[in-house]
Amino acid sequence: MSHIAYIGIGTNLGDRRDNYKKAIEHLRELPETKVVSQSSVYESEPHGRARNWFLNGVVGIDTELDAKALLKKLQKIEKGMGRKPSSGKGSVSRVMDLDILLFDTEVIDSRTLKVPHPEIPNRRFVLLPLSELAPAYKHPQSGETVSSMLVATEDATKVVLYRP
Ligand code: ADP
Ligand code: MG
Repeated sequence: MSHIAYIGIGTNLGDRRDNYKKAIEHLRELPETKVVSQSSVYESEPHGRARNWFLNGVVGIDTELDAKALLKKLQKIEKGMGRKPSSGKGSVSRVMDLDILLFDTEVIDSRTLKVPHPEIPNRRFVLLPLSELAPAYKHPQSGETVSSMLVATEDATKVVLYRP
């Protein structure tokens, strides 16, 4: 069975533009997976301890993989792109961060995988690009749409269209 998923992409180390492009190429190479939509790329002020601004965006995929298998593949891509294993949680600097934001309307709450990604409402850098691709998607738990979460978010960090 095929699934629609949205993947958040983030990078703030090295050649960010090249990292972003390469990550999408890797997503295209996943088995039984098609990249079906791509948001604009945004540049965003770091949350937390990171210093460098991030490039952030979202892609929509159509995949036969289940959510857990998809997470494993994303982690392989992150690792292959040089991400250090224990760089810690929460907006620290990284070459590549690939998060499963949404996976159909599934709700998953395991130790290693939480879907919808719990930080969606608190991250303008996710809500802005996600609202380009799935504005009317209703959060399966809160019932809020992506558009309404964007209007309501308390995240005041800067997110601007990336103009290389
Ligand atoms: P963040 O992306 O929130 O800054 P990290 O990428 O450092 O955090 O966290 C990685 C861990 O988050 C992984 O070990 C993974 O198991 C877990 N995780 C839980 N839910 C998800 C999800 N929806 N997408 C990606 N990783 C997730
Ligand atoms: Mg992550």
